[in-house]
Amino acid sequence: MLKILFASSEVQPLMKTGGLADVSGALPVALKNLRHDVRIIMPAYGDIFKKTKRAQRIAALDLPGIAGEISILKKKLPGTSVDVYLVDYPPAFQRSGNPYVNSEGQPWRDNAERFALFCRSVCEVAQDRAGLNWLPDVVHCNDWQTGLAPALLQSETARPATVFTIHNLAYQGLFPREIFDVLGLPDQLWSPEALEFHNQLSFIKGGIVFADRINTVSPRYAREIQTAEFGYGLEGLLKHRGNKLSGILNGIDDMAWNPADDPHLKSTYSIETIAQKKPNKPALQAAFDLPVNPDVLLLGFIGRLVGQKGIDLIISLIPQLDNLPVQLIVLGAGDHKLERTLEELASQHSATIKCHIGYDETLSHQIEAGCDVFLMPSRFEPCGLNQLYSLRYGAIPIVNNVGGLADSVTDVDEQHSNLDIATGFIMKQTSGTALYNQIVKAIDMYQDQNKWSRLIRNGMSRDFSWTPSAADYVSLYESALLDQSHASKP
Ligand code: ADP
Repeated sequence: MLKILFASSEVQPLMKTGGLADVSGALPVALKNLRHDVRIIMPAYGDIFKKTKRAQRIAALDLPGIAGEISILKKKLPGTSVDVYLVDYPPAFQRSGNPYVNSEGQPWRDNAERFALFCRSVCEVAQDRAGLNWLPDVVHCNDWQTGLAPALLQSETARPATVFTIHNLAYQGLFPREIFDVLGLPDQLWSPEALEFHNQLSFIKGGIVFADRINTVSPRYAREIQTAEFGYGLEGLLKHRGNKLSGILNGIDDMAWNPADDPHLKSTYSIETIAQKKPNKPALQAAFDLPVNPDVLLLGFIGRLVGQKGIDLIISLIPQLDNLPVQLIVLGAGDHKLERTLEELASQHSATIKCHIGYDETLSHQIEAGCDVFLMPSRFEPCGLNQLYSLRYGAIPIVNNVGGLADSVTDVDEQHSNLDIATGFIMKQTSGTALYNQIVKAIDMYQDQNKWSRLIRNGMSRDFSWTPSAADYVSLYESALLDQSHASKP
């Protein structure tokens, strides 16, 4: 049995802005099911206590340079037996809304201080200096918000092994040089071999340089980030650490995303009762005020409205969609300009396109169940969850040939000779035309309901539960422990 401290800045259902929260809410539970002693540590955001009961205060920390006490609160991850330690420091975390940006969408001014404080608290707990009487074997850090923890732990004489997972290299936690001094970090960490990145402080480099093992959330993305196209200037370092870098595809929370038992659906269904999927399409068309028509191909998109997700490729096609037997439903929020463009296009093409701007969990389930096709033309995608939900719900994914999308979808080949394994359509390049071509292919195949149901069945029979991925993480922890014990030998 391993003792694992799992550090994350967002954990479903306590706080979520994206896929990181899904992973942080599900992987620890899967590890616990494999009988490991896993405890989550995250910031005590004010909003957490709007949804759940107040937690018990179990320890306090005094950190040099931090005014007042930091409390460690404890509660269970809702619906599970996994313990969550909440780092409670109201000046840093007691504010409503998004954990990273203010209501204008601008990063909180003190993000470096907030997440440095979080990392320092993680280290105190990891070294059993918080009085919890528990010493983990492994600290599993996730994304830049936790990046300083492996850097700080590295200088301890005895320490747990460290694993750092990159969920999205596009977000690196870069701050001006002066912040390094403000944070009071050890001088030796200011170097290009440590946290310095072109005269800026890089939180993510703390994880990449110092963790015993690094991984990303798909094998393909682990390879991609070692190239200039996807590496943001970190490709050299990532290549250098290539023998410690691997990829493990995310699982999905198969309780929350189970079409056989999904309270949000008009009609629940499983692979044994696929016919019961049918009523979800007219229900969705009606809910979005689209003509109820079983013959058109209903396309769906759910995601953050940002460049990464390729929503601009979809937007570029909208005028052409009027001439095809398709309808399109978009659910998303993000870039305000993209939001307005989508709303305008939806009003100009109201018989084919509808959009819902906002974050809506219920609608996201209904779209996965009611759509025939799910569009995910991301420019890059570390893993991606929506295409996995689509496979499980029988919405055929059309995806770009990148990252976790390429690792999780099997393309229908030109001759339709692989219909025993194919699960979707993969774009041949990143462009509106390439997306259009795959939509046309899907329309063609939809005419042959026999072939179409084979695709649905293939996708629905894939296992995307966390169990195999959690076992892969255990192997990764074991490798990290081996590396750490070699590193600490005199
Ligand atoms: P990322 O983490 O890059 O945002 P992922 O595909 O890994 O992308 O995960 C996104 C998660 O957020 C999924 O669970 C998805 O369903 C959800 N999501 C994104 N936007 C919305 C929205 N507007 N409404 C409901 N759920 C959303």
